[in-house]
Amino acid sequence: MTILNETHDAGLQSWVASAQQAGTDFPLQNLPFGSFRRRGGGEAFRGGVAIGDQILDLAALCATGTLQGDAAAAAQAASAPRLNALMALGGKAWSALRLALSRGLRAGAAEQSAWQVCLVPQAEAEYAVPAQIGDYTDFYTSIHHATNIGKQFRPDNPLLPNYQWVPIGYHGRSSSIVVSGQAFRRPVGQTKAPDAAVPSFGPCKRLDIELELGVFIGPGNALGEPVAMADAEDHVFGICLLNDWSARDIQAWEYQPLGPFLSKNFASTVSPWIITLEALAPYRTAFAHPAADPQPLPYLQSTANSAEGAFDIQLAFDLQTPRMRAAGQGYVTVAQTSYRHAYWTVAQMVAHHTVNGCNLQPGDFMGSGTLSGPTLDQACALIELTMGGKKPVELPDGEQRIYLEDGDSARLRGWCERAGFARIGFGSCEGTVLPARSLGEGEKT
Ligand code: CA
Repeated sequence: MTILNETHDAGLQSWVASAQQAGTDFPLQNLPFGSFRRRGGGEAFRGGVAIGDQILDLAALCATGTLQGDAAAAAQAASAPRLNALMALGGKAWSALRLALSRGLRAGAAEQSAWQVCLVPQAEAEYAVPAQIGDYTDFYTSIHHATNIGKQFRPDNPLLPNYQWVPIGYHGRSSSIVVSGQAFRRPVGQTKAPDAAVPSFGPCKRLDIELELGVFIGPGNALGEPVAMADAEDHVFGICLLNDWSARDIQAWEYQPLGPFLSKNFASTVSPWIITLEALAPYRTAFAHPAADPQPLPYLQSTANSAEGAFDIQLAFDLQTPRMRAAGQGYVTVAQTSYRHAYWTVAQMVAHHTVNGCNLQPGDFMGSGTLSGPTLDQACALIELTMGGKKPVELPDGEQRIYLEDGDSARLRGWCERAGFARIGFGSCEGTVLPARSLGEGEKT
């Protein structure tokens, strides 16, 4: 069962004034981890913790000599350019560091004078993908998304019979995972119109977003040794936002029989901050399949998973077009949902992934799949929101979108709220679509 502790106390105040600002994603109760450096100075990336509008530099913090024991070891591990060594340490060390940070950042803490010089304004920072990701697996855990997509690809057979039994996933590609704030070129590839005799080659015409959560793996498991449901979350470091950009026209032509390939691996964007499961503990909720559905097989069940295996994380997809940007208009929210609607939990993803003996390693990454909720305004990809291109999204400035156009920026946000607890947020996960590269003479069709 969830153990709440002093770090979750909603009454905690920090000596970092911006941590008390209404609506901040990073109050003292959050303390998410990322990899950062000051922009433009050629500094090494190192681990940091977001607090208000600042970053506590964990490498600098180590040098103050004010941490002891497990907390000091964890901060030392987090001083590297990527957080894999911290992730490998496991929950006891993560928790010790969180407690030490919570106490040292509290209003009135003796550490204030030593730690104040370890702060870097987020406005002056740039970020890296927080771990060296060895393997990336993308799941498909929203039954609403699976059904909506299935209706378009297979109207007669939307939800395949394995869906309610198997946490469906595929192996993705880690090399093209980028951190929030980057732009990428619209992919080119093969597509085929339903009435065309042969495929054509050129820029993707149906570029989409997928609002997902990403799970960073902590300690791994040995090859051949499955992780049981009861232990699954011990192998999870934390959760971030993930936009799994998708080229729907390339996907439709290439996906059978082995699943998506080039339609998914041209760019995947993650948010800079990883929210630990300990920070998310107050926002857990019960998990169950509907009573009329098949119940999970025993290897995908545990008492704790039923009681509180799901997380009530609020999620939003925002859009900004070039015309909006030129007019000085910010993002507009296009869809909003919650992670609590997922059909399979984080623990079930880990247990299923390893049940055959597959080994996970620290820093491995799992996508939840597009997290669409039960109604259309909770659909978390344009292919669903526009009903496969039939109903454009109407934007406040009179523009319409079916799929993403060049210059469009997409932003994902996430946050947790519960009466009696602090509101904590995930920051944002942003990316901008650049025009496709120009085709060479020999490539044109
Ligand atoms: Ca996906």
